[in-house]
Amino acid sequence: MLNQVYHLLKECNLRSTPQRKAILEILYNYKGHHLKAENIYGLLRTKDNNKRLGLATVYRTMELFEKIGIVSRLSMENSSARYELVMYDELMHHHLICLKCGQLEELDDRITEEFKKRILEDKGFEVADKSMKIFGYCSSCKR
Ligand SMILES: [Zn+2]
Ligand SMILES: [Zn+2]
Repeated sequence: MLNQVYHLLKECNLRSTPQRKAILEILYNYKGHHLKAENIYGLLRTKDNNKRLGLATVYRTMELFEKIGIVSRLSMENSSARYELVMYDELMHHHLICLKCGQLEELDDRITEEFKKRILEDKGFEVADKSMKIFGYCSSCKR
């Protein structure tokens, strides 16, 4: 999977520097975690010295990755954006976001099939294949 990503970097004429590779590795290892740039920065610091990057560079790198489509960015209501690796071999997923604690849960696309069908039937509106964000309260916060 990561080889595919490195290949994409190359196709976009971007070098696979040790730093870029380290970031992609982190995103891959923390799949499903939706890391903030600060988290990635923190994790990089625990790696070897030559892979260390400033926080600003992490942000810039994430912007770049987003632009070429290997990373997706989730903007949040009242905290920093979260990032995740785009998995082309997997079904799209949506996000359930807790308004209180910020917890993020993934929601399989299959569950929204009915929802999309209803919108098409009732409104004649075709929902694009985009990831949706659904805000609410997680099981521990709703109490
Ligand atoms: Zn919560
Ligand atoms: Zn996700």
